[in-house]
Amino acid sequence: MKKVVVLGAGYAGLRVVKELVKLKTDAEITLVNKNDYHYESTQLHEIAVGNKKPSDISFKITDVISKKVNFIKDEVVSIDRPKKEVHLKSGKVLNYDYLANSLGFESESFGIKGVDEYGLPLIDIETALAAKEHLENTLADYAKSGDENDLHIAVCGAGFTSIEYLGELVYRLPEFISKYNLPADKIKIYCIEAVDKILPMFTQDLSKYAVDYLEKRGVEFFVSTPIIEITKNSVKSKDKTFNANTIIWTTGVKGSHVIADSGYSQRRNRVMVKDDLSSSDDPNEFIIGDVSAVMSASGRPYPTTGQISIAQANFAAKNIDARIKGQETKKFTFKSLGTVCSLGPKNGVAEINVLGHWKLKGREVGPLKKIVNDRSVLELSNFKEMLASR
Ligand SMILES: Cc1cc2nc3c(=O)[nH]c(=O)nc-3n(C[C@H](O)[C@H](O)[C@H](O)COP(=O)(O)OP(=O)(O)OC[C@H]3O[C@@H](n4cnc5c(N)ncnc54)[C@H](O)[C@@H]3O)c2cc1C
Repeated sequence: MKKVVVLGAGYAGLRVVKELVKLKTDAEITLVNKNDYHYESTQLHEIAVGNKKPSDISFKITDVISKKVNFIKDEVVSIDRPKKEVHLKSGKVLNYDYLANSLGFESESFGIKGVDEYGLPLIDIETALAAKEHLENTLADYAKSGDENDLHIAVCGAGFTSIEYLGELVYRLPEFISKYNLPADKIKIYCIEAVDKILPMFTQDLSKYAVDYLEKRGVEFFVSTPIIEITKNSVKSKDKTFNANTIIWTTGVKGSHVIADSGYSQRRNRVMVKDDLSSSDDPNEFIIGDVSAVMSASGRPYPTTGQISIAQANFAAKNIDARIKGQETKKFTFKSLGTVCSLGPKNGVAEINVLGHWKLKGREVGPLKKIVNDRSVLELSNFKEMLASR
């Protein structure tokens, strides 16, 4: 029997496995993930402020995959692609005939000094929890230290993750102020961005709505301000130093380091795939989710998102199944359903491409984000089908 190995149980990996089971693919399927749980990375900003607990956004992998799938909790160290072997941290080596590589994203430092030491990224449950603990401990410290930098929070980057983080932060701030008896007038929240745009994926009016919403709640934006260094208590640009004892690093992500370590031709650990999502040097290897780059009709790669990861996974599973059966693979096509950016649990901005093109802002977007998240959990776990396949 052919062996299919799936690396990573994020949106992409979990969906590939689910689809392969649904297709009744004639293969032995193995899923490898470094934790025994899946987490919804689209909600990490909520963990990082404490508006949600890890158990709210994660579930045990073996609870949601078919018993036909062999699950291995281990870390992938590298892939010996000529030998078709996956090397794991435990020393175990897995052989495969077909590979779905969906190892996901890591924080990108862009080589800026001090980022790895002092920036707090939001890339998984551990880092989001570390950011939350750092934030709360630092605010609590003010009572003893009297150091105003304990009340200063710098958020680096003004893209999607930064804005969603800021939305959660300003929502919870009144609670922190009363819990730690903080002087509200001394709290400073900086958002520092290299380019001149905030939330570049949205139209100008929606991005302005988000900025106004956050500014009214105390966020100060600094655009066209490339960061050149981070220290323990400051963010430095060429002309300005922002003093802050909490520094959130959400400037962007890259693919898993395993990509570069395994000798792929890559840029920021993303591999440009063929139109059927296979790698250009092995037709039986599919690269999907945040470790892949997929060219769009505009001639630029699609932005990496959970949404496209799931769409890719559906395609990749069908193409793996086709290869095993000796059939032609199909070209990947994608139409974005739109983007929803929350501003805390009760507000946000959205552009939706369903039954036309809709631009939304305000309180109706809060529940919309929740619906999208709940749907994703339900679809990934799909309890009914899961039980049926056991
Ligand atoms: C705060 C935030 C909000 C976001 N909001 C949205 C949104 O609203 N909509 C949207 O579409 N996208 C959103 N995104 C982007 C989205 O989360 C990613 O594009 C998506 O998670 C990519 O899915 P993936 O399966 O490729 O990777 P991941 O979700 O990163 O999953 C990778 C999996 O592989 C595991 N893994 C990693 N390395 C190893 C290893 N070496 N060995 C074994 N296992 C490993 C990880 O533990 C993880 O389980 C958001 C991202 C963030 C950070």
